[in-house]
Amino acid sequence: MKYVKMYKTKFDLLEFISKLPKAELHLHLEGTLEPEMMLEKAKKNGVKLPYNSIEDVKKAYRFKDLQSFLDLYYLGVSSLVDEDDFFDLAYAYFKKASSQNVKRAEVFFDPQAHTRRGIDFSTVIKGIYKAAKKAEDELNVSVGIIMSFLRDMPESSAEETLEQALQYRKWIIGVGLDSKELGNPPSKFERVFKRAREEGFIAVAHAGEEGPAEYVWEAIKLLKVSRIDHGYHILDDPTLTEKVSQEKIPLTTCPLSALKLNHITPLDKFPIKTMLKLGMIPTVNSDDPAYFGGYLNENYYQIAKVLKLSASDLATLAKYSIMASYIQYDKKVDLFNIVDETYCEIF
Ligand SMILES: [Zn+2]
Repeated sequence: MKYVKMYKTKFDLLEFISKLPKAELHLHLEGTLEPEMMLEKAKKNGVKLPYNSIEDVKKAYRFKDLQSFLDLYYLGVSSLVDEDDFFDLAYAYFKKASSQNVKRAEVFFDPQAHTRRGIDFSTVIKGIYKAAKKAEDELNVSVGIIMSFLRDMPESSAEETLEQALQYRKWIIGVGLDSKELGNPPSKFERVFKRAREEGFIAVAHAGEEGPAEYVWEAIKLLKVSRIDHGYHILDDPTLTEKVSQEKIPLTTCPLSALKLNHITPLDKFPIKTMLKLGMIPTVNSDDPAYFGGYLNENYYQIAKVLKLSASDLATLAKYSIMASYIQYDKKVDLFNIVDETYCEIF
């Protein structure tokens, strides 16, 4: 007797992924700026970009490393100026997330990428918060906003940013650390993270993406993060691998980002199966989807296909994303049940 029917076709796999309720925990709102919106906002705001058409922008999306991507990313964000721009940017992502069955989105924004070009912190956060509220009310997407410090700027700038954020304390759940990793270790930000934690912010940080395992040690020991963003180089260090696995510190991995930035190529080297086998808590995320060729479901789909992940693996990854999020326990239980129901439906 045949007990188990597994998906076999592209259609079934995509459908299953689409139906799974998921949390997205590693998403930069500025990284959701699609070429169409970039050009439209640049025109509206009189910002000069070196592109004349959407094709021109797309041609520029061939990166050789993190820095070549960041150069384009910061150029793109210069087209965003007023509160409506930030609202439009964020709401477009929430709509996309909702269409992909993302039930919880914990999104990063980079205040310094805007304040350093003369945009007020309040303009940015007000636009994003308004979009988050509307997404919760109208799209059934629960949102947590995390502000990231740019690690290639001095700690004093991060401290200034934290000060500016305090009057919006209730709108922001946590602090993160992103931008150029190499040469900017977590230890550089020990003081500002301590202050942020004292103010009640949760702490996360990009670490071990292009930087060594040592940076992940620093993020855990000095910044006391509760989640690691990326974390691939953890696997270079057996003691750290053991610690992350024993302490169940979640990892927000981003398959298409790692591929497009040439951190992990080809995609069949993406270590998520290894992480699962080692008892770690990896999650799947899209990072900067407008630049890396896919939103959340495309990330799930690509690795499922290449690594031949089973339906059970995919359900586990969806559950881990929910488990690693900062929503209330009862909501986690509700979403876990929906994952189980979705999984049962395919048999
Ligand atoms: Zn990132």
